[in-house]
Amino acid sequence: MKLISACLIGCECRYDQKSCRDEKGVELLAAGGAIPVCPEQLGGLPTPRPPAEIVGGDGFDVLDGRARIVDREGRDVTELYLAGARQALRMAQTVGAKQAILKENSPSCGSSFIYDGTFSGNKLAGVGLTAALLMRNGIEVRSEEGEKPALPKHRQKAPGSL
Ligand code: SF4
Repeated sequence: MKLISACLIGCECRYDQKSCRDEKGVELLAAGGAIPVCPEQLGGLPTPRPPAEIVGGDGFDVLDGRARIVDREGRDVTELYLAGARQALRMAQTVGAKQAILKENSPSCGSSFIYDGTFSGNKLAGVGLTAALLMRNGIEVRSEEGEKPALPKHRQKAPGSL
């Protein structure tokens, strides 16, 4: 069983109330091989919602208290994103998921790239918050393109726990 970003199977759960439907993800769901989750909705964020970006690092830095998640209106939404990441981890552990397929570029689900925190459309190499928490708990994360993040191993190790 795998976890999959809910927007990839057609749920209109993105910040702009759209989906990012991916046919391979839909097929996996239909075959009973995946559980859809949207960490941002699980954390209590509304849909639609202002877009948010990680400021000061990536998801690992948020877990370690070095970066925050801020929405375009300047609101610090870190705690809601953390709550959603923890819920997604709980679901993964409940179903025994060893792998997650998550939407690239999202501050929650990105696994190789995220936006750089300036709301200017620029991306940087980095990991979203939910992806980081899953990785630190031994779950392999891939993007919808099937790519595994090219992360140095030490970034995936947990200095503490969440
Ligand atoms: Fe939800 Fe992740 Fe999709 Fe964003 S990328 S809408 S957090 S499932």
